[in-house]
Amino acid sequence: MQTHFTLSQLADHNIDIANKEIKKCVHCGMCTATCPTFVVLADELDSPRGRIHQIQQWLENNSPITKRFVRHIDRCLSCYSCMTTCPSGVEYRRLIDIARQKIGQFYRRPWGEKMLRLFLNHALPNPTLMRITLLMAGFARPFARILPQQLQSALELAPKKIFAPQYFAPAVNNLGRGRVIIHRACAGAVVNGDIDKAVVTVLNKLGYDITILEESQCCGSLNAHTGAGDLSAKKRSALMAKLQNLEFDFITSTASGCGSFMADAHYFGEYAQKYRDISQLFRPDYAQINPEFAPKYMGKRIAYHSACSLQHGLKITDTPKELLQSLGLNIITPKESHLCCGSAGVYNILQPALAKQLGQRKSDNIQQLQPDMVIMGNVGCMGQIARFNQTPIYHIAQILQEALT
Ligand code: SF4
Ligand code: SF4
Repeated sequence: MQTHFTLSQLADHNIDIANKEIKKCVHCGMCTATCPTFVVLADELDSPRGRIHQIQQWLENNSPITKRFVRHIDRCLSCYSCMTTCPSGVEYRRLIDIARQKIGQFYRRPWGEKMLRLFLNHALPNPTLMRITLLMAGFARPFARILPQQLQSALELAPKKIFAPQYFAPAVNNLGRGRVIIHRACAGAVVNGDIDKAVVTVLNKLGYDITILEESQCCGSLNAHTGAGDLSAKKRSALMAKLQNLEFDFITSTASGCGSFMADAHYFGEYAQKYRDISQLFRPDYAQINPEFAPKYMGKRIAYHSACSLQHGLKITDTPKELLQSLGLNIITPKESHLCCGSAGVYNILQPALAKQLGQRKSDNIQQLQPDMVIMGNVGCMGQIARFNQTPIYHIAQILQEALT
């Protein structure tokens, strides 16, 4: 696409980045078919191509940030399905991040929305505050129906079980498998601490030398999602300062949402290359596989849900499925597996109506397969899909833990 930025505009680093990405777009529209918001709303302004055009117009004309512009940017899930589809290699995430950050800095949201975002940005990535919030959610539940839709959605998502802080000692196995840092998703540690335990157990059993970060060592992903760019940068810097003092070959996270962010070299520089999903690290010896594992699941239909962060962010599509199949599981894939479930960080709180439509659609597609269980790699998706689906849901690490003796 032709752009008309002036030289002085291009001196701004963000505009320079945006210019390069916008130029790559040939307006073919292939991305629209795989964009969840376009699929649901059928509005060009809620498609990747439409959003790129709006961002270009706004940046080139140095226009004020309008309510209409914010509405269409806010509706984007940052699922990056469009990047998987795009034949021109447009790094859409650079553009949406710039737009979100500027909105976060300069747009005056209504008071209630501002407070909600402030709360989400500070409470969710802080395990202590998150535990207090979940405790309070218990008292608020009886009044859910009189609360605004966004708070109703938050209450629906709030789990009744709260996990206490867990400490995991580092392990040195000295088997030459590699040194792995385990990053713990901060909200994940509170809503499902079993996942942290499973990831630690699996990597330990596989013989890696492991170091486990504290549950409060946030990567800043959630803040970036909501446009709180400065807060995200602060957390990123703190995490990278920590990594600088550690020796390691790989870094993994208990949630692929955080993983996708940490594997983005734009934010994490050289550390991004060291990111591995647990499915990529799972290389057991034959003798380590529990002989009772495969017979236990024989005849079971197991749906695999691919989190957007994994398939579109990290570009890991077949590895987890092939791994589970190699362990003897009958893996089935729901239709429209490329579409987001509506979790997307805190999207299901900030955009409750759209998230509900997407969650129901995802759940219906899973349910059509009549599975006995569902496996996925992101704690956010687990909570979102569980709202609409009674089928038992597991994190892949929990299954891998079971597969090992
Ligand atoms: S990131 Fe997802 S929701 Fe946003 S434009 Fe791309 S495909 Fe659509
Ligand atoms: S698929 Fe890529 S090139 Fe085509 S309109 Fe979408 S972003 Fe632009």
